[in-house]
Amino acid sequence: MLTRSHQGERACFALSTTGFDEAFGLVAASNWHKSTIGQLEIRILVVLRVTEIFRSIQGESTHAGRPCTFVRLTGCPMRCSWCDSEYTFTGGDHFTIDSIVERVREFGCQLVEVTGGEPLAQRQSLDLIRRLCDDNHEVLIETGGYVSTEEVDSRAKIILDVKCPASGEAERNHWPNLNRLRPDKDEVKFVIAGAKDWEFAKRIIEDYQLESRTKAILISPAWDQIDLQELANWIVQSGLEVRMQLQLHKYIWGPDVHGV
Ligand code: SF4
Repeated sequence: MLTRSHQGERACFALSTTGFDEAFGLVAASNWHKSTIGQLEIRILVVLRVTEIFRSIQGESTHAGRPCTFVRLTGCPMRCSWCDSEYTFTGGDHFTIDSIVERVREFGCQLVEVTGGEPLAQRQSLDLIRRLCDDNHEVLIETGGYVSTEEVDSRAKIILDVKCPASGEAERNHWPNLNRLRPDKDEVKFVIAGAKDWEFAKRIIEDYQLESRTKAILISPAWDQIDLQELANWIVQSGLEVRMQLQLHKYIWGPDVHGV
């Protein structure tokens, strides 16, 4: 048997023809990915880098106001100009999927959001999402729209950000994600920092027929960057079936507090 395990790295690798259960009996089988090459069995311990797990009030989307457990994964390949989650770019602690699911269970909320950072940037998040769905949670995925949603468990509900020009990341939108949105459960979100963003959002809503393709189109003002009344007027005048949303948690706890 050959094993390799470094604390701080993403995974523990083990190669063996025998002896796994004796060596790794303390880590439940559900945490390992298994494959074989000839007679050689390979197991990879699946871990995720997590910034925080906490219970709070859902602050956004049509689920705003509901008690919710948040699993905030570490890391994001984007750098939106108005990002309020920069503390997730680095650091974090490594958790097995079992330990995340257990922590979520302890909080006792039916609603769970997997967020980030960019939650789908860690491929192992797909396993986590599946496990949370298996555990009968209502699972929301808040994704920045850069990574494909194709392999996300179909039981989970997607809240898909479309990055507008002022974010500085509009070129990186993964447009096929829009074609996968489902009208009974998925939502799309535009963060608006000015008139150019609003014009962009209107064009995308019309080009992709998002009013019929999604459960809700969320129009979210970039914090402290746009006059709320002006945005509300644009929405009313547009005639579009969209929903202006304010980030409830920031009004309750303040814009810089997290993990509450
Ligand atoms: S995708 Fe989200 S976490 Fe990543 S930089 Fe943009 S706002 Fe921040």
